Amino acid sequence: MENLMETLVEEVSRQVGILLEASGRHVHLSRHDVDTLFGAGYQLTPVRPLSQPGQFVCKERVTLVGQGGELPNVVVLGPERSESQVEISLTDATRLGIPAPPVRQSGKLEGTPGIGLRVGERSVTLPRGLMVAQRHIHLTPAEASRLHLEDGQRVKLKTLTSRPVIWEDVVVRVSAASAPAVHLDYDEANACGFHKGDRGVVLW
Ligand SMILES: [Zn+2]
Repeated sequence: MENLMETLVEEVSRQVGILLEASGRHVHLSRHDVDTLFGAGYQLTPVRPLSQPGQFVCKERVTLVGQGGELPNVVVLGPERSESQVEISLTDATRLGIPAPPVRQSGKLEGTPGIGLRVGERSVTLPRGLMVAQRHIHLTPAEASRLHLEDGQRVKLKTLTSRPVIWEDVVVRVSAASAPAVHLDYDEANACGFHKGDRGVVLW
């Protein structure tokens, strides 16, 4: 009976859980930095859409240039932003020789360090914008109210993965222009044995 209950709870969690997605290292570029790196007036080339409406993977790639190393072939995500931003994992930071990049919510660039970007012969030095993305949950207002969650709230989330992990400090981000998804970086996704299609449940 106990086993049956456990199985049921697990099954229900799988049905109601939020889809997990692993975000690899990536770059968002401003119009100004697209001009500098690819040429004046250059248009980024969309390759496929991301789960969040309006966001897309671009064909373009850049090399990240840190004080202690480089990471080539880093994907650019569109559309352009008002200011460039580079999101990496802590493992990436080690490879770039950047000791302790701040963990931030996307778009919160105050106090973040800079980094170099290079494409062929062209390069730009961002004065700021390097961060490790704060793990977060995207929810629509309807989903948020169903789960009794509010924008900006920090919750615990258990991954229903081959190596389950309970993450703390998962920020809830509510927006009408979003699709329900938990975003982990590759370090986090690897740590919990993530496979495409896995889900997570919010714990209270
Ligand atoms: Zn996200």
